Amino acid sequence: MLTESEVHYLLEIYDAYTAGQEYVGPQYLATRLKVKRPTAYQMLQSLVKKGALHRVKGKYCITSIGLEMARRILRNHRIIETMLYRAGVDLETACRCASRIQNEVDDEVVEKLWEYLGNPDKCPHGRPIPQV
Ligand SMILES: [Zn+2]
Repeated sequence: MLTESEVHYLLEIYDAYTAGQEYVGPQYLATRLKVKRPTAYQMLQSLVKKGALHRVKGKYCITSIGLEMARRILRNHRIIETMLYRAGVDLETACRCASRIQNEVDDEVVEKLWEYLGNPDKCPHGRPIPQV
């Protein structure tokens, strides 16, 4: 189980990965997330310990476990967001609430919601809902 801040980092790394950047370093994350380099470095270390990242020559790449974690979280986020948005919650609020629930909710519950919503493949932002 990842902490909320580990999730924050993992999703940033996943974003870079899907944009074609396979390796990231602490400086990249420090810049992107506006944190100090040692903070980013520490977070990379804990993601390595949890099996989400793999260290190669001072650079870090996402493992298949990390990919699975990131997709699961994004899937949860985007399905919950879709539900809230369709219920009339504005998109910004829906996104903020989904960010809080995404790590806590049971996967089975999300899958039930997904079916209930008619198996959407995009969130209200138009981003794909990943398959896991
Ligand atoms: Zn969102």
